[in-house]
Amino acid sequence: MLTKRINTLSESITIAVTALAQELKAQGKDIISFSAGEPDFGTPQVIKDAAIKAINDNFTKYTAVDGIPALKQAVCDKLKRENGLDYALNQVIVNNGAKHSLFNLMQATIEEGDEVIIPAPFWVTYPELVLYSGGTPVEIMTDDASGFKITPEQLTAAITPKTKMLILTTPSNPTGAVYSKDELIAIGKVLEGTDILVASDEMYEKLVYVGEFTSAASISDDMFKRTITINGLSKSVAMTGWRFGYMAAADSKLIQATKKLQSQSTSNINSITQMAAIPGLDGSADADIEMMRIAFKQRRDVAVKMFNEIDGLSVLSPDGAFYLFVNIKEVSNDSLEFCKRLLEESEVAVVPGVGFGSEGYFRFSFATSMENIEKGIKRIEAFVKNYK
Ligand code: PMP
Ligand code: GLU
Repeated sequence: MLTKRINTLSESITIAVTALAQELKAQGKDIISFSAGEPDFGTPQVIKDAAIKAINDNFTKYTAVDGIPALKQAVCDKLKRENGLDYALNQVIVNNGAKHSLFNLMQATIEEGDEVIIPAPFWVTYPELVLYSGGTPVEIMTDDASGFKITPEQLTAAITPKTKMLILTTPSNPTGAVYSKDELIAIGKVLEGTDILVASDEMYEKLVYVGEFTSAASISDDMFKRTITINGLSKSVAMTGWRFGYMAAADSKLIQATKKLQSQSTSNINSITQMAAIPGLDGSADADIEMMRIAFKQRRDVAVKMFNEIDGLSVLSPDGAFYLFVNIKEVSNDSLEFCKRLLEESEVAVVPGVGFGSEGYFRFSFATSMENIEKGIKRIEAFVKNYK
């Protein structure tokens, strides 16, 4: 009954572990979950007020498929002001979350025979979307030793005549690695003279603790032309449930192609979310964003210190995002088994590294209270001590 295409897809492991933890909690178990990839903060008031106003104004009808002009203008203004990127209205489209942007992008650009280079560890969704488009994911493995970043040499070695796209995620989910401007320039040099596209996933842009964030498209004209910039508001202003993401590309034909797909699938994104997103983009929520960033940084520092004091575990301090990618290789090389037992025996939920393409690690989200972090890591310590 089912197509080969749908059978290539696996369920998102990050969502699956989060759902399992919620289910066990509902059964009365004392689960502490570090699986969720979403801020524990509420959406800033200025955004909620804009949504309430939209409802009261009856802004509740279909809109333009690619987003209302005022919202697309807010996206363009944000990209110009904060990222130094000049996009016109026909070069941007808003989607139902950045996951949807990536889905549409892959459907529009990747087909049978195309290779897509994905640095590993990677966010679980990338290889799935590539496979669903008929393409072939090509992984470049990174580890703690390289700070979980690819080198220009690795990229050169991975490129073949079939390479269609490189996916770059900075800051990274699941490692928190942030590419510096110089590192992006070096990557850009490797791509010069090729037709390779770059999908730059900048979802965690606002969560940088060390150094500065640089947009891949901003480093040169050549990179601007080949890069599709993808971002959203899920993480920066705690809007995961609202479903808002966007992409921007120099090639307006690409954006218009994804608009065609959107017009025949989801149509416009929720009209109320569109109004709410504007203050999320125009600087009105900047104080809330900074408050959350500082809280995440404090949690990061506590969690990193606690993990590195546990015999057998080690972790790099991430420069961005809200995840630790904890090395468990001295304890286990089976992250699925490790995480399953951690949940069953110690009631702590984390996501196995194997889901992100890297065995011997787990992902720990510190987007939860300091109290949970301290209590949870103590449980992990006791679990590791007795792990056989
Ligand atoms: N990119 C990365 C790296 C992510 O971690 C996420 C989080 N879920 C997304 C994209 C998609 O986010 P959303 O669909 O909520 O905009
Ligand atoms: N991106 C988040 C995560 O990595 C949310 C879940 C998902 O969309 O996969 O946990």
